[in-house]
Amino acid sequence: MSDSMINASLRQLSAALAEKKISSVELTTLFLDRIAQLNPSLNAFIATDREKSLAQARAADAAPQPCGALHGIPLAHKDIFCTEGWRTSCGSKMLENFIAPYDATVVEKFKAAGMVTLGKLNMDEFAMGSSNETSYFGAVKNPWDVSRVPGGSSGGSAAAISARLAPAATGTDTGGSIRQPAALCGLTGLKPTYGVVSRYGMIAFASSLDQAGPMAKSAEDCALLLNAMAGFDPRDSTSLERPAEDYARDLNQPLAGLRIGLPGEFFGAGMDDDVRATVEVALDEYRKLGAVTVDISLPNSGLSVPAYYVIAPAEASSNLSRFDGVRYGYRAPEYGDLNDMYAKTRAQGFGAEVKRRILIGTYVLSHGYYDAYYLKAQKIRRLIAVDFSDAFKKCDVIMGPASPSVAFAFGAKSADPVQMYLSDIYTISTNLAGLPGMSIPCGFGNNNMPVGLQIIGNWFDEARMLNVAHQYQQMTDWHTQMPEGMR
Ligand code: GLN
Repeated sequence: MSDSMINASLRQLSAALAEKKISSVELTTLFLDRIAQLNPSLNAFIATDREKSLAQARAADAAPQPCGALHGIPLAHKDIFCTEGWRTSCGSKMLENFIAPYDATVVEKFKAAGMVTLGKLNMDEFAMGSSNETSYFGAVKNPWDVSRVPGGSSGGSAAAISARLAPAATGTDTGGSIRQPAALCGLTGLKPTYGVVSRYGMIAFASSLDQAGPMAKSAEDCALLLNAMAGFDPRDSTSLERPAEDYARDLNQPLAGLRIGLPGEFFGAGMDDDVRATVEVALDEYRKLGAVTVDISLPNSGLSVPAYYVIAPAEASSNLSRFDGVRYGYRAPEYGDLNDMYAKTRAQGFGAEVKRRILIGTYVLSHGYYDAYYLKAQKIRRLIAVDFSDAFKKCDVIMGPASPSVAFAFGAKSADPVQMYLSDIYTISTNLAGLPGMSIPCGFGNNNMPVGLQIIGNWFDEARMLNVAHQYQQMTDWHTQMPEGMR
């Protein structure tokens, strides 16, 4: 029973709950017990509260039938989402003791759908990183090999699902933080079109790039989660007013005639051979499903990492100015005057990577450098978006690797920030253009570590991307595999 439940899809869990084969309390207890047993070796969860979770589960069990598709199913939230009454740390000492007074819209929507909160998930500090090594609460370990990183910044989310400590989780993606950890942990993760999911109550890193999305085992699970997450929110000024969609509506469409664009720039130097070979096999699978591949070009994609590392730090330097020790969060215990209080608070409260970003961001926005760096990066951003709209005249979706390598060892890239930044070389351009992107597991590379296939869709084409992913998952079983050591 418990084995089938931890590997079950959300639809299966929903059916088991509706047929009263299991209660939400039993299901929640099963996952809480696994967290208690396995989390000490993974460090994926940084907050759990058994009583709070079970109270929600009891309420779900008591609700009158029929209930929605996600009712009674537990999930966990990346610690970037404000959760009323729970600590919301964003992986930082700055918010180590911050109890959120309200729920993020995403959290509120999952509660309204009857889902049970299992806890809060570890992450890179303020979502800055690709390996989860920048968290104040310590690194998260990859369940496939605990000597390796799970990816970042949603590494806690990825590790938790992959070890079956949660059936699903929320993530956020500013430059790849849903797709890259999904790839490195063998999961399905979707970053929606910018503006589809509300950012209200999601601690801001780079506001024009940040977007929340679902992480789960399969595309079908992600579709159900996105149905609950998406929607206009007047409390987020960049939230888009669009008619509601059923993102699962096209899952079963055949793929015959689908045009898959393969950008030359995503298949050049820089990708490891094992990743390349695994992605090629996946593309062959798509050809068997009736898709055709077309060569396309994204000529400015080589500029995406440099443009991102101007724009994202610029926005971060502005967003993080609110952490000043005055209103909430950490305050240095000893200081002289007001300026000294600000300086000591920020020096002690932020980690090294966050400080690096604040320094870069402040520099590129300063008088005399603004035109040379910030404005130029914005122009490049525009060109990258134009490249994609030209490409989508020739294809329906774009495919390539999600990450240039499989999960790497702890410490392998932490001494060299630029090496770390290149982890997102295939994912960042999507954020700059505001496009939806996802990663699905497509096999194993060196050292038996998971490889992710990236699917990029046109603006608002999430339903089609989920269809493309689901059809592949009907033919393959990569998404059902779980790490041996976590049984
Ligand atoms: N790794 C990238 C960064 O450090 C992206 C992070 C993210 O998407 N949150 O900025």
